[in-house]
Amino acid sequence: MEPPDGDRQLRRAELVGALAAVRGQLADACAAAGRDVRSVTLIAVTKTYPATDVQTLLELGALDIGESRDQEAVAKIAELDALLAPDIARPRWHFVGRLQSRKSRSVATYATAVHSVDRPELVRGLAEGVRRAGRPPLEVFVQVSLDGDPARGGVRADALPGLADVVAAEPELRLRGVMAVAPLGTDPDQAFGGLAQIAAGLRERHPGADAISAGMSADLAAAVRHGSTHVRVGTALLGRRSPDVG
Ligand SMILES: *Cc1c(COP(=O)(O)O)cnc(C)c1O
Repeated sequence: MEPPDGDRQLRRAELVGALAAVRGQLADACAAAGRDVRSVTLIAVTKTYPATDVQTLLELGALDIGESRDQEAVAKIAELDALLAPDIARPRWHFVGRLQSRKSRSVATYATAVHSVDRPELVRGLAEGVRRAGRPPLEVFVQVSLDGDPARGGVRADALPGLADVVAAEPELRLRGVMAVAPLGTDPDQAFGGLAQIAAGLRERHPGADAISAGMSADLAAAVRHGSTHVRVGTALLGRRSPDVG
């Protein structure tokens, strides 16, 4: 559904302000860490927000868009296609949420990158989806659990090398690196410091897997301090989501 014009203008102004603020935070964090701001990709996580917001973000030059549920992503992509002129660049879609095996083939038909691969069962479906769709290799981040609690997703650090090998063996997939979410109630510097060590271990085995997907609205600066190359920001850009949505 298209919101009325006045609402659309207000929302656009909100997104302009929020995007400028987050880009500023990211620039400050990079400067403090002695890093080039171009070494960090800002992914706008638009879950629960409408296709019109994605359209506005694209107009503002935010081309990397994150979603966490396949069904929502598929619907939003169709809506966006109806909104955008054919010559407008489409987003690079990043799938960041927990992935169910039966959805992996679908995700592979639209995603540029999947950040949440945490078990071997997902790998074949992703590769098959890419192959069937005739798409270029899908970028894969292996999600690591920093507290060893499997309920929240992520492979335990000791199982990372094996899973990374399974991903790297698929010609349709390109192993990019690791992803993690800082466990609730822990110091993000400690969490992301640990992740940086895990990432360094992975690079010894797979030198091309040099990316780190870490940092959300609340802990972006800490993630950048510890080498994050992909920050996934929802709330700070789009606003608060209803509490039951992960
Ligand atoms: C929702 C989500 C984000 C964005 O989180 P915010 O705190 O809203 O910035 C990042 N990563 C993942 C995996 C998510 O599910």
